[in-house]
Amino acid sequence: MPYVVKRPERDIWEQSYIPETVRGMGVTLRHFFRNVIGRRDTVTILYPEVQRPYPPRFRGLHRLTQRDDGSPRCTACMCCQTACPAECIHIVAGSYPDGHPLAFVEKYPAEFWIDELRCVFCGLCVEACPCDAIRMDTGLHARPVEARPHLMYERNLLLSITDAKGDVLTANPRKK
Ligand code: SF4
Ligand code: SF4
Repeated sequence: MPYVVKRPERDIWEQSYIPETVRGMGVTLRHFFRNVIGRRDTVTILYPEVQRPYPPRFRGLHRLTQRDDGSPRCTACMCCQTACPAECIHIVAGSYPDGHPLAFVEKYPAEFWIDELRCVFCGLCVEACPCDAIRMDTGLHARPVEARPHLMYERNLLLSITDAKGDVLTANPRKK
C-alpha cells in the first residue's frame, strides 16, 4: 500500500545552507591549522631526504645467496623458473666436474637471468626454491632506468646484491 514519505521540515535559515557551510569551513580550518602549525595528523614526509623503512616482509628485488665459500647456493634445479607465472627467469645449468669440492650438488647456474621488468613480485620463485638460493629480502625496489636491458639482472649481479642488512649469505638458519 502506498504511503507518504515524511520529509524533515526545514526553515528558511537551514534552507539557506549558511550554517552548514560555516560549520564545514570550521572543520576545514581546524584541520588546516592543526596540520600546518601543529603537524599533528601529517602523514606526508620530505621524500627523498626522509624515507620510510620498508616492513621486514617487503618483497624487493631478488638476490642469489652464496655459500660460505662464495659459490652460488643455487643448484639449477629450475623450480623457480617453472613456478614463475611471468616467465621472467632464465637459467642455463652447468655441471661441476668430478673431483670438484661441490661435485656432490652436481649442478650450478652457468647463466641465471631475471627480467625485473616482467616480474610481478609474487614471490613464488622464493617459495619454490628448495635451497633458499633465491631471496627477495633486499629491501630494494626497481629504480628508473633508461633502457629495458638495464633491469635484466644476471647471475653475478644477483649474487652480489645483499639483503637489507648487507649479508650475501642465506638468512634462513636451517640452510646455514
Ligand atoms: S617474484 Fe614471481 S614473477 Fe617475479 S621472478 Fe619470482 S616467481 Fe617470477
Ligand atoms: S634459485 Fe632455487 S629454485 Fe631456482 S634453480 Fe636455483 S636452486 Fe632451483
